Amino acid sequence: MKTYANMAQVQRRNQPICDLRSDTVTQPDAGMRSAMADAEVGDDVYGDDPSVNRLEAMMSERLGKDTALFVPSGTMSNLTALLAHCGRGEEVIVGRDYHIAAYEAGGASVLGGIAISTLPVDGDGGLNPDVILAEVKPDDSHHPISRLVALENTHNGMAIALPRIKETAIAARNAELSVHLDGARFFNATTELGCSATELADMVDSVSICLSKGLGTPAGSVLAGPSDIIARARRYRKMLGGGMRQAGVLAAAGLYALKHNVERLAEDHQRANHLANTLKELGAGDVSQATNMIFLTPRDNLNDQLRAHFDSNGVVLGGGSAGTIRIVLHKNVDDAMLKLLETDFRTFFG
Ligand SMILES: *Cc1c(COP(=O)(O)O)cnc(C)c1O
Repeated sequence: MKTYANMAQVQRRNQPICDLRSDTVTQPDAGMRSAMADAEVGDDVYGDDPSVNRLEAMMSERLGKDTALFVPSGTMSNLTALLAHCGRGEEVIVGRDYHIAAYEAGGASVLGGIAISTLPVDGDGGLNPDVILAEVKPDDSHHPISRLVALENTHNGMAIALPRIKETAIAARNAELSVHLDGARFFNATTELGCSATELADMVDSVSICLSKGLGTPAGSVLAGPSDIIARARRYRKMLGGGMRQAGVLAAAGLYALKHNVERLAEDHQRANHLANTLKELGAGDVSQATNMIFLTPRDNLNDQLRAHFDSNGVVLGGGSAGTIRIVLHKNVDDAMLKLLETDFRTFFG
């Protein structure tokens, strides 16, 4: 099986032909590059970049929020949001393996003096409202001041249903906490749930969305929310060194992605579902799939052999916890590539 090379749109030296580690590996296509080249730009720190302003306006309108902020990364977006919501000695309550708790180097604690309290994540990727309420601290000088609940959707590819998000948000509000949603893959969630962007965003105060994952831009995230929170986040973005100048080159990629790459996310989900069914049919091991992600725990501990097999064909599989392999579908994996992958899995497990 040496035919992957024929399928690769852009094959560069030292680059895998098919990279399934994450949807962050997507390459900007010709249309996006052309939009970037033609972008109208200005100095965004002065508020002068028309493309950034357009992206922020479009995103806040689409989400039904007051305003929005363009940020270099999802990590900085979550961090500016947490700094905007919480002061020193205040607390965010978050799922234990959510990105904010597990993969952001404890930034909110390190840089903001914010206490991060973690809760177990339910099987559907959501949090239990009763467990949240039990974690909220009484007004007592022994405790940090509970201020915020941070949710994540999708989580490990799982789109958490609207009623689940709603019950959590209501519990948080009743305890006088604000709610932030880490929606790195927000549009994968709305695609899967069949809801509008506003329906999901309405339930939370602030939302962070990555443009550089399934949406396919080279960089950038957007944080949307109430004017006062976003104004504070803007100050923190500057403080963190995230104020960019002619950032319109990147914002233009975001505008292009919102127009061309949101509806096509459904294709990634369908391909992931197709591949997952093939793996199940082959008895490849333990398989779970949600939106654009598959988690495979290969039978007979075949992890290393499986990786080596695909590696020799220029196909990279994602790492996962304890023997689980993550396979992420994205816009650089088309039907022809999927077919080759399935044939290759058949050869390996057949
Ligand atoms: C990727 C991701 C982030 C962070 O985005 P970066 O742009 O990589 O910093 C935050 N939250 C979740 C759930 C993510 O998947």
